Amino acid sequence: MEQIGRAVWGRLGLGEADWTNLPDRKPISQVDLYQGDENDVIIVSLVRSNRGSRLGFLKDLSRRCVAQSRARRGMYILGNADCLAGCQEHQLWRRLIQSMTEVGCLGPRLALVCPRHRDATPAPRREVTDANEGFPTSLDFCDRLCDAFMDCGQHKCQKLCRSPRHSHKNCEVMVDFLYNGCSHPGQRKCNEDPADLLCQARVSVSCPKCQQSDTKPCHQPMSDYSCPQPCPKRLSCGHACPEKCGDPCPANPAKDCRTCIEAERLRKEALKRQDEEMQNLARREAKDEYERIKPDKEEEMSLIKLDPGSSEFLDIQDRVTKYVQMTHGWFPKVRSVERLRNVKLRMRFLSYRQNTAKDATRVELKFHGTSADGVKGITKEGFRLPQNPGMFGAGIYFASDASKSAQELYTQGSHTLLLCEVLLGRSLRVTEATNSKYNWKSLRQENYDSIFAPRDTKNSGGVLFDEFVVFNPDQAYPKYIIKYESVSGAAALNEISKLSMGQTQPKTGNTVVKIPASVVATKPETSPE
Ligand SMILES: [Zn+2]
Ligand SMILES: [Zn+2]
Ligand SMILES: [Zn+2]
Ligand SMILES: [Zn+2]
Ligand SMILES: [Zn+2]
Ligand SMILES: [Zn+2]
Ligand SMILES: [Zn+2]
Repeated sequence: MEQIGRAVWGRLGLGEADWTNLPDRKPISQVDLYQGDENDVIIVSLVRSNRGSRLGFLKDLSRRCVAQSRARRGMYILGNADCLAGCQEHQLWRRLIQSMTEVGCLGPRLALVCPRHRDATPAPRREVTDANEGFPTSLDFCDRLCDAFMDCGQHKCQKLCRSPRHSHKNCEVMVDFLYNGCSHPGQRKCNEDPADLLCQARVSVSCPKCQQSDTKPCHQPMSDYSCPQPCPKRLSCGHACPEKCGDPCPANPAKDCRTCIEAERLRKEALKRQDEEMQNLARREAKDEYERIKPDKEEEMSLIKLDPGSSEFLDIQDRVTKYVQMTHGWFPKVRSVERLRNVKLRMRFLSYRQNTAKDATRVELKFHGTSADGVKGITKEGFRLPQNPGMFGAGIYFASDASKSAQELYTQGSHTLLLCEVLLGRSLRVTEATNSKYNWKSLRQENYDSIFAPRDTKNSGGVLFDEFVVFNPDQAYPKYIIKYESVSGAAALNEISKLSMGQTQPKTGNTVVKIPASVVATKPETSPE
């Protein structure tokens, strides 16, 4: 039976899935098994069809009786009338076919009407005439609207009746409604829950921060409202906040205040311009002096003894006697000061300053202590780089303190100090020994002209008193040769205490002595960077 059922099912054009989904009691049955059963409408398929009118099991009248008596309201018999009526031996079908013909119930076509619209005029209908055409399994011939009520019970389905099987849940007809709470009118799909919808009506607000009036969506809580007006506040720098009123004010004006950023940019530009001008000025000064002495003989060298009453002498004397550290237990009396004029060395120094220095503006007077031979050699041929590196490399060392340079270790009884113009330029500050790390080339690669070891860095491996190192002999010009008498021990302390009482000498540290521009042809003494 299962096989026959499937075969008939297939002839109706229905698929395997539809068969499997049928309830247990299949709507298709063999006639013998249907005895005692009934239904409103019965379609009987007679199955047999051949040219010889061989009826087979259709010969059995009792079977025919069962088949034609199962319907309560209506019945269709599908079969080959010629084959059935043509049998000479058995007349049971011929008579039935004759009487059906007489009442007009026999024909080659089956009329189908849309059950949903059978009362419409005209009723959507279709006639099936050719068995090979297949039996329509859906209402694919009905062009009317489905018109079934959606499950809301208020709206009818808007799809076509012929549409494939479809749901009548989730009605999407647009309906008017009022939002809960605010009572603003709105539109929603019939199936949407008003409680799930956000009222988009614009409502007036007054910004709590700037008091400006504005609008916002009705549903938006005030805590989510973001005012689009310019922020009325001032940043800590005093400039107007650049953000919108509704956004947080920037915490860091230096980073976020456009006015401050622009001002900082201009300030840096101005500084850069100013520095460039200073550099140009310094280089031009060096050039002018260079041009002035160029006509002189290169080997020309002379020492000009300063008048002890002249301000130049007194300034240098001050510098020697005031740049004294008690630690060194040394106090000098200046006996003579000579100003060196060495055209060759001066031209080298000026040329370096004009063409080579990274920073040409910074030339300072610094002390250098050396032996009598050293004084002779330096004033004649200039400085020489040492063979062995010192604490900060194989350079030429200078001090701010006269007492430091005057140590016997350096002067070896010469009782002479050199006060030199040193092109310090950009100083690399170091607080511990750098040994051989730097030479002229490597220091310049880091964009420096000199090394500066500041005072009071002994603990970290540095020095007690300021020290400066340059790595090119042309960076220093031995300008003054100072001869002194050393006073040491108790006599020195006596001298220092005399000065202290005169309030000209602080108990520790250096006193910076202002050297007039006439003495130092460069910018005034400044603290090292
Ligand atoms: Zn529908
Ligand atoms: Zn609806
Ligand atoms: Zn219909
Ligand atoms: Zn609303
Ligand atoms: Zn605002
Ligand atoms: Zn702000
Ligand atoms: Zn600002």
